[in-house]
Amino acid sequence: MLIHQFKPKALFVSVLKKKTALFFVAACLVFPISLNAQGPVANALPLLGDGSDMSASAERRLGDRIVRELYRDPDFIDDPVLTDYVQGIWQPLLTSARVRGDLTPELEERFAWRIILGRDRSVNAFALPGGYFGVHLGLLAVVSSRDELASVLGHELSHVTQRHISRLISKSNQQTPWMIGAMILGALAASKNPDAGNALIVGGQALSAQGQLNFSRDMEREADRIGFGVMTQAGFEAQGFVGMFDKLQQASRLNDSGAYPYLRSHPLTTERIADMQSRLPLGAPHAVEVTPGMTHAMLTARARVLSNPGSDALRGWLAQADDAGLARQAPAQQAGVFYGAAMAALRMRDAVQAREQLARLQKVVLDDVEAMRQARWLGLEIELAASDRSRPRLLALGAEAGPEPGLPVMAATSRRPELLLQAQLAVQGGQAQGMDQAAQALQSWLVRQPQDDLAWQWLASLYAQQNQGLRALRAEAEARVAQLDYAGALDRLKAAQDRPRAPGAVNASADHIDASIIDTRRRQIELLLKEQAQEP
Ligand SMILES: [Zn+2]
Repeated sequence: MLIHQFKPKALFVSVLKKKTALFFVAACLVFPISLNAQGPVANALPLLGDGSDMSASAERRLGDRIVRELYRDPDFIDDPVLTDYVQGIWQPLLTSARVRGDLTPELEERFAWRIILGRDRSVNAFALPGGYFGVHLGLLAVVSSRDELASVLGHELSHVTQRHISRLISKSNQQTPWMIGAMILGALAASKNPDAGNALIVGGQALSAQGQLNFSRDMEREADRIGFGVMTQAGFEAQGFVGMFDKLQQASRLNDSGAYPYLRSHPLTTERIADMQSRLPLGAPHAVEVTPGMTHAMLTARARVLSNPGSDALRGWLAQADDAGLARQAPAQQAGVFYGAAMAALRMRDAVQAREQLARLQKVVLDDVEAMRQARWLGLEIELAASDRSRPRLLALGAEAGPEPGLPVMAATSRRPELLLQAQLAVQGGQAQGMDQAAQALQSWLVRQPQDDLAWQWLASLYAQQNQGLRALRAEAEARVAQLDYAGALDRLKAAQDRPRAPGAVNASADHIDASIIDTRRRQIELLLKEQAQEP
């Protein structure tokens, strides 16, 4: 069968090459999963318990399998600032779903509830098996408010809490998890490049031959209804839901070519819209012009710059910032433009211009604490990038250089972007005290957030800089584990075990503790790899 030659990775990457203009794939990417596979398929049924829905742990394993590939995709992006913003919306939604009883303790424990950002400019968010969610920067770039983003995330969250995915998969019970995983990766790739259409589903011919299995209309209505409850109970404005529908509807009027997977398979029925409008309080306007908040405007600009790094687009930001009409715009809009212009200059490696735009930004954000914080983080990024290029000089200045200018004062409540910036500054500054502090801060963060691969990576850099080779390798291994790359993790743990121990080292006992942690972790990872190999 052709499908056995299907290489999701190769397909995924090749399709990513061609970037497409902004388009709406929309809130629900639909996974085409074939029903009735033709002919007998070996290894069928391992998913199924008693013939009912896929079990939560089987679904999680399937999700892990898919996400392991996504992490290797060059379009995967962990931008701490945007991640922090999305988490600020996501966590209240999770809490609300928990309080409402939509998210059961069992499911909460079994599933990942993790959002993965993709650099892609297409407007898309989607739920994957096992409680993973994909969000494209294109979506962050077009939402007009936190509420609109919350409406999309609430809807996707509800598809998962309602076990819609497991219901779809259990219907296609002739497929092995491997095949379903491959198909979902193929569908994701297809959604990124509508031009490729069906032609790209080379190996997954079962898909095109048998049509697509979508979330049913009932499932969509349920996800709308529960998502609406989750989002409003989390404190977001109901208008966000309507605003998002309006955007989708406008897009569907513009794009009727059939080249857009979402609009083809997942139309915005008037019924769905009427349904949502009936949930709004009586007398609420059907659509209101939303003025984005200052922070939202800035982070939307960030998403746009990061998802569209072409030089024309970057120069466009600077032109916008110099436009005489900008002064007449609302402060939030000005802040967005200056932020985008500073980011664009940063990408063009023009530190002078970046600092200039930042200074303009700082004047506009003065009354807004969160916007000021965002501006400060951006300032640190600019200085990091600028001094990175003069790094030899910085290092040569060495220990007597005094504290790094602009080094943030660490607080126990520091947010993730702050912690990671601190770590980068410390690595760059190369001073013992700064590195110790940053490493300690990361360690306590990682106790609470052991899945944070980027934090592990910066911890590894700090350890390497401090000549703590064993710890650096272990931290690198943990970063691999967090991305579900157990083979990569094992490599690093083996390298750590193979390191010659320094005889009579001052830190012999610390080394001994590290070595035994590494031994334990190696056994655990080997077990995980073994389980993975036994999966069908
Ligand atoms: Zn949906």
